[in-house]
Amino acid sequence: MTIINFNEFDLNQFPVGRTSKGYFVVDDDMRHPIPFFVIRSEVPGPVLTVTGGVHASEYTGIEAVVRLSRDADRLRSGTLIVMPVVNTAGFKKRSVSENPVDGKNLNRLFPGSPDGSASDRLAHALFSKVISISDAYIDVHSGDIGEALTPFTFFDAGNEASRVLAAVFGLPYIVGAPRDGFSCRASSSIDVPGILVEAGHSGSVDDACVQQLTDGIHRVMVHLGMCGEAMPASQIPRELSLRTLTSELDGLWYPQIQPGMKVSRGTAVGRLDTLLCDGGYVPLAKDEGIVLFFVNTLAINKGDVVCAVGVDADR
Ligand SMILES: [Zn+2]
Repeated sequence: MTIINFNEFDLNQFPVGRTSKGYFVVDDDMRHPIPFFVIRSEVPGPVLTVTGGVHASEYTGIEAVVRLSRDADRLRSGTLIVMPVVNTAGFKKRSVSENPVDGKNLNRLFPGSPDGSASDRLAHALFSKVISISDAYIDVHSGDIGEALTPFTFFDAGNEASRVLAAVFGLPYIVGAPRDGFSCRASSSIDVPGILVEAGHSGSVDDACVQQLTDGIHRVMVHLGMCGEAMPASQIPRELSLRTLTSELDGLWYPQIQPGMKVSRGTAVGRLDTLLCDGGYVPLAKDEGIVLFFVNTLAINKGDVVCAVGVDADR
């Protein structure tokens, strides 16, 4: 079994013309090895990095990246770096959003830190050793356990090359990433065009969404000149900005919305109540737009997203 210290990653250690695979370990922590594939063509070309499982229970996305790892035959030039499950500690525990080692959400930490806790160091190794030497980066997500969503792509709204990549990927909506710490914003900050793609829901493996994700990755590979096959043209995506409505209480949530549905200002999006059924209220949409995602479990916590609406970006 090949085990590589993540902080000593060097593309030149992998031979061309074949698929290398093994595990990265961060700071010699052997408890949570991170699987990788490095697929190098004999023909020089761009480096594309694709990660899954930054959120470890987003299984549709993980499955899409697993399938990509078997796609060595498609590669005509360049290098694919494929990591199906970045947060392996979370994968084992079926964690929602967090790395159970330190309770942090990896997708709030990029570019990471070499001096922080386990998640900070993992983000730092991934960012400084792999993303930084890439020509493009795709972080594949898919709706966590307890999350419904309609497919869309996050990108750094200020970065034109990332916007182009988001459009090429071909999901129906593209959305400016809302905050620092997102993988795709960190990559854009060092001029590596990066996107975070979302298709899937509820911690399931949705085969149609897996296909949407693998098709998008292949469109990006064609766009970069890494494979030559023709792909069906992607639709022209609609650019939206994100507005979220959050729960003001801990307790019960009865959503009355569906992913992709249109809401108007004042639309009742469901009903919230406490576990003693004495403080309920009906949250109302504040904006007209498309429902991009929401928590779809009976359990709700104060601050959870009861409705994330995408509004036309030029509004
Ligand atoms: Zn995610």
